Amino acid sequence: MTQKPDFKAPARTAVVPDTLTLKRSPDADAPRRNLVGLTRPALRDALLEAGTPEKQVKMRVNQIWQWIYQWGVRDFTAMTNLSKAYRAQLDAHFEIAVPEVVRREISADGTRKYLVRIAGGHEVETVYIPEEGRGTLCISSQVGCTLTCSFCHTGTQKLVRNLTAGEIIGQVMLARDDLGEWPEPGVGTGDDGPRLLSNIVLMGMGEPLYNFDAVRDAMKIAMDGEGISLSRRRITLSTSGVVPEIAKTAEEIGCLLAVSFHATTDEVRNTLVPINKRWNIEALLEALREYPRLSNSERITFEYVMLKDVNDSDADARRLVKLIRGIPAKINLIPFNPWPGSPYERSDWDRIEAFADIVYKAGYASPIRTPRGEDIMAACGQLKSETERARKSRAQIAAETGL
Ligand code: SAH
Ligand code: SF4
Repeated sequence: MTQKPDFKAPARTAVVPDTLTLKRSPDADAPRRNLVGLTRPALRDALLEAGTPEKQVKMRVNQIWQWIYQWGVRDFTAMTNLSKAYRAQLDAHFEIAVPEVVRREISADGTRKYLVRIAGGHEVETVYIPEEGRGTLCISSQVGCTLTCSFCHTGTQKLVRNLTAGEIIGQVMLARDDLGEWPEPGVGTGDDGPRLLSNIVLMGMGEPLYNFDAVRDAMKIAMDGEGISLSRRRITLSTSGVVPEIAKTAEEIGCLLAVSFHATTDEVRNTLVPINKRWNIEALLEALREYPRLSNSERITFEYVMLKDVNDSDADARRLVKLIRGIPAKINLIPFNPWPGSPYERSDWDRIEAFADIVYKAGYASPIRTPRGEDIMAACGQLKSETERARKSRAQIAAETGL
C-alpha cells in the first residue's frame, strides 16, 4: 500500500503491547543485539544462539525478516504469528533499531535532508529526492571520506568511521518511516503501485567501495524479495574509482554502477579525484569495460561535474567520448554545487549545454542533473556532518592522507 507522505508518525512505531508482559532474561542489563543489518545467515545464527530450535529456525528467519523489512515493525510484541513466549525470548536478546533522525529539512523543491545520528554520536546525511511517480534515496556509507576530491564538501572531512550494514539499510528504513511507506503490517506486500522510495543511490557521504562488506550486506537486504524488495536495477553505487573492488561489486552486489569520472586527462583527474594517482584513467576504463558483462547489467553512468574553465571545454567533451568508446554508457553532467569555501565555480549554462551536445551527438545520453535541495545544502557533494563543519586546508588534508 502506498500512501501519500503526510509526515505523521508511522503507525508501526506505535504498536502497543497487548496483555503480554515481556520478561527479560536474568542478564537484562546486557545490551541487546540489533537485528537490523544482519544477513539471512547471520540472523539464523543469532536466532540459534538465542535458543531457537534448529528445526524451526528457517521458518523463524523468514517470519522475523518479513516483520522487520517488509512491514517495518520495530517491536517484537507486534509479531503476531510468533508465540508470546518466543516473542518475549526475542525481546530479551535482541532489538530492532534504526539510526535516529535528529533533524529533517525540507527544500522548496520537496527534497528532504535527514541528519542521522549513529552510534558514537556521529552524524551522516541522507537525502530523499521525490520525482514524478518515483523517488530516490541518496544514502551515506561512511562518516567523512578518506579521499579528498577537491570539489567535494565531504572530502574536507576526514574519515571518522565506516557505517555498519544496519546503519546503511537503516537509512532506507527511517526514510520509509518518514514517508509513511510501509505496507500494512501482516497484510500488505508493497507491490501494488508506484513507490515513494523506489530507487537508492549510494551517492551520499563516503566511498562505498572502501566499506564494501557492509554496503554489500545492506544492499542484499534492500534487494531481498521478502523485504524492501528493490530490484538491483534500481540501486546505483557511485565510486570514485576503486578499481580492485569494481569486479567484486559486479559479482557480489550486481547493482548499477556510476563512476565519478570528472576529467579526461590524468593530469586534471589527479587534481580533482586524487585516487587517480593510484588507479589512473586507463586502469579505471579497463575495469569498467568488464563491468556490464560481469554484472549482466546495463549502462554505466559516467558522472562528470562541470567546473568552469577546469574540465568543461569542447576538447574535453570530445576526449571523453573517445575514451569511453565501446562501453555502454550514459554521461550524467552535474553542474558543480558550491559549498562554503569551495575553490571552483559552476560552468556557465551554455557551456554545459554545448558540452552535452557534443556527447549526445556522439551517441550517448547526456542528461544534465538538475541540482536538487540546494537551499538546504542537500545537493550532490554538499553533504558534510554538522559536527564536523570546521574546514581544513587542502594542505592539511594532503598531509594526513598522503594523497
Ligand atoms: N564517493 C562516491 C560517492 C559519493 S559522491 C563517489 O565519489 O562517487 C556522489 C557524486 O557527487 C560523485 O559523482 C561526486 O563526484 C559528486 N560530487 C561531489 N561533490 C560535488 C559538488 N560539489 N558538486 C557536484 N557534484 C559533486
Ligand atoms: Fe569521497 Fe566521493 Fe567526495 Fe571524493 S567525491 S571525497 S570519493 S565522497
